[in-house]
Amino acid sequence: MGDVEFGTLNRDGTVTNVRFIKQSDIMKCPLCIMVPEHYKTDGTCLCFDKGEQDRIRAERLARRAKTLAAIERQKARK
Ligand SMILES: [Zn+2]
Repeated sequence: MGDVEFGTLNRDGTVTNVRFIKQSDIMKCPLCIMVPEHYKTDGTCLCFDKGEQDRIRAERLARRAKTLAAIERQKARK
C-alpha cells in the first residue's frame, strides 16, 4: 500500500505543508476521512482519540442546546 500525499498548493505553483499519510492508516479510519490533521503521527486517527471525541460530543450538545433555546424563543413569540 502506498502513501497519500497531502499539501497546500500555493498560487505560485509551489507546494507547502507536505505530509504523507499511509494508505493503510486511512483504511483503518471507520470514516476514511481524507484530512491529514485527522491522523496522528502514530498512525491512529482521531476517531479513536478520547479527548477529540469528548470535544466533538461537547460541541454537539452545545449546538443542540442552542437549537432548543431558539425553538423555545420561537414558541414564546407566538
Ligand atoms: Zn478517523
